[in-house]
Amino acid sequence: MNKEAKIVYRFKNALYINLTNRCPNACVFCLKNPLAMKFEGYNLNLEGKEPSAQDVLGEIYRNLKEFAAQEIVFCGYGEPTMRLDVLLEAALELKKKISKGKLPAFKIRLNTIGLANLVYGRDITGGLAKVIDKVNVSLNSPYEEQWRALVRPAPRYVEKGYQSALDFIKLCAQKIDEVEVSIVDKQGIDADKMRELARSLGAKFYLRGFIDGK
Ligand code: SF4
Repeated sequence: MNKEAKIVYRFKNALYINLTNRCPNACVFCLKNPLAMKFEGYNLNLEGKEPSAQDVLGEIYRNLKEFAAQEIVFCGYGEPTMRLDVLLEAALELKKKISKGKLPAFKIRLNTIGLANLVYGRDITGGLAKVIDKVNVSLNSPYEEQWRALVRPAPRYVEKGYQSALDFIKLCAQKIDEVEVSIVDKQGIDADKMRELARSLGAKFYLRGFIDGK
């Protein structure tokens, strides 16, 4: 692994977990390139050397000794569900330790683009619901065409991606208490329509501040 790269980093009141730099999307507002794989001074460039669940847990425990995190967030510069096995293994271990009182009762959140069911060809939301307390799905548009233009999915996800992400949100909302659908606050977005769509899927709405990487 790139020794400089952070697999766990602190931001606000949470520890963020950087499992992978791989992502099925290439969003027009992605900060990976404009910020040269850095975020808040942290180097998130794994250079293809992705951490194991034990690597991640070790770093979380080390950070928790000096940082009272209220949340653990699987996020990073990449789509966390591309490492589904590692995500589930690490989250399960944290949940076990929380239930035994060996760790404080922080929440475990997943930030995702919502394409995992399409990527894996099966419904993964049941497995997530066992270990994840909160899911934020970056949908970014209430309109399919605009979604394609903004998130620029890989060719194999262009046709079915949007509907699959909507289904994913709905399935998560049936099983997980806190599910949010977010949209980046950028010119040309229809926040009201997005709020309505989120509600119709059983989720909350979240307007994410636009960070200009220039
Ligand atoms: S989903 Fe995130 S990591 Fe992937 S391209 Fe979009 S902004 Fe970048």
